[in-house]
This record gives sequence, structure tokens and C-alpha cells, in this order.
Amino acid sequence: MRRDAWQLINFERFEAIPAALARPRGSATARILARSEWLLRRKSDGRFLAAVGPARALVPLDPAGRRLLRTLRQLLPALRGRRPADTLPLVSMHAALAELAVPPDYGTQRGLALVAEPRGLAFAGVDRYRRPLWLTPGAARGWRRLQAAARADGVHLDAISGYRSHAYQLGIFRRKLARGQTVAEILAVNAAPGYSEHHGGDALDIGTRGEPPAEESFERTAAFAWLARRAGEFGFTMSYPRDNPHGIVYEPWHWRHRDTAAPRRAFSVAAATPPPAPASPA
Ligand SMILES: [Zn+2]
Repeated sequence: MRRDAWQLINFERFEAIPAALARPRGSATARILARSEWLLRRKSDGRFLAAVGPARALVPLDPAGRRLLRTLRQLLPALRGRRPADTLPLVSMHAALAELAVPPDYGTQRGLALVAEPRGLAFAGVDRYRRPLWLTPGAARGWRRLQAAARADGVHLDAISGYRSHAYQLGIFRRKLARGQTVAEILAVNAAPGYSEHHGGDALDIGTRGEPPAEESFERTAAFAWLARRAGEFGFTMSYPRDNPHGIVYEPWHWRHRDTAAPRRAFSVAAATPPPAPASPA
């Protein structure tokens, strides 16, 4: 598979990534993946389930993959050709939020909407931790151009985090509940699963060399000054400036890409609503 064609193919519970991008732990798995095209993994915990060979042969990589073989086989036709540029349905996210007892008016209170996951994401290079960075094709192009323009100006920018799935965010939420935190306590710090701009694949957290990730001190760097001046040329805007109406803490590192020059969607929080406690979708 050509590097510029690398994609993440997104399904409700599973995702396929090019086998060349997988980072297997064991050598047996590494050998199988070396002669495969795709890796199918579970979204909730990233577990490697099966590899897909050149002739669409499905090779289970662990007992869970073996049990799911029939289900995984149904995904194979979607690994061919181009992905539709639409999003996955939100049905199961609504069910998960109800099960977790997230208040039904959470979105209205915060002026946030549920963000659907794209069916396909483009490879946008690697992040600071050498993990693949996945973004929508437009955001991936915009990020590569922005990063190159900054480099030409002597400014180093790296990505901390791009697309994140609902399942991943639900996993964080469930682990905190299991440790005894209440829903209210978690929502005071984290955005509810489903409401992060990272789910849509057009937002990313940006950092620079020598700076810890996702800290307010980023605003005092040359990298931030450059972004503030130039990011707009590449379609990026800061989502959570100081005193934003979502009650989300100031996040100078979080930028969202828009393909068109359309203005940002109107905030839906009524002016009379007192801002809730700051929450960080990170
Ligand atoms: Zn972010």
C-alpha cells in the first residue's frame, strides 16, 4: 500500500489500519503483520484481533480475534476502494451515555454537540510519541502544510493527539468510574465521551519541542505566537480561547481545521446561563 494512500478504516467497534503502521509486541505477530495489508483491532482497548493478507485471508492474532472471525470477515469488502466521506451513526453513543448516567441535558448546558466519527481517516504523519496521527483528509493536508510553513520560519511544531474514537474516550470514563469517581466529578475535568472535537478527526493538539503537552504555558512559546499569526492561513482556529462559552478551560494547544471559509458555528449557550465548572477535553 502506498504511504500517501494510508488510511484508517473506521467501523462501530473495530478499526483497520495499514499493517505497516502497527506496532506489534510479539515477534510472531510481527511476522504475520509483515506479510499482511491490514490490521483489524478493537477500538475500546486497541487489542490486535486479526491481520488481513493480500488475498483477503483473515489471520486471527489472538483468541478474541478467533471468536470474532465471522464478524470481522463481514468488514473485508469495506477495505477495498475509497471510503465514503460520511460519518458513523451516533445510535450506540446515545445508548452508552444513557448507561453511564451522563445528564441528558449535558450538551445543551455546555453548548456542545455530539461529534460523529468519520468512516475513514487519513494518515497525517506521526505524533510526538511516534504514533500514527489520524485526521480527516482536509485536516491532514492542512496540518502538513502548516507544519512545513512553520519549519520554514524556524518554528518546530509537533502533534500531541489528533483523532480519538468514542470507544477510547468511553474507556477512560469507565476506568474512572471503576476507580470510584462519580459522573459529576469526571465531567468537571473531562468532556463527556462523544462531545470532544477530537472524535471528528479535524482537531488536533499541537506542541513544540521542550514544552510539556497540553499546558497553558504553551501560550508563551514562539510556536504559539506563530500559530496565532499564521494558523488561519491553513484553515486552523483555536477552539477554546479564554472565557469560551462552553465553560471549557483555555486550551491554547487545541486547534480545529475547517475546509471552507465558513464561520464557526454559533454558540448555543444562552447568555443568561452561568458558565459551568471548567472541563478539559484535552
Ligand atoms: Zn484537544
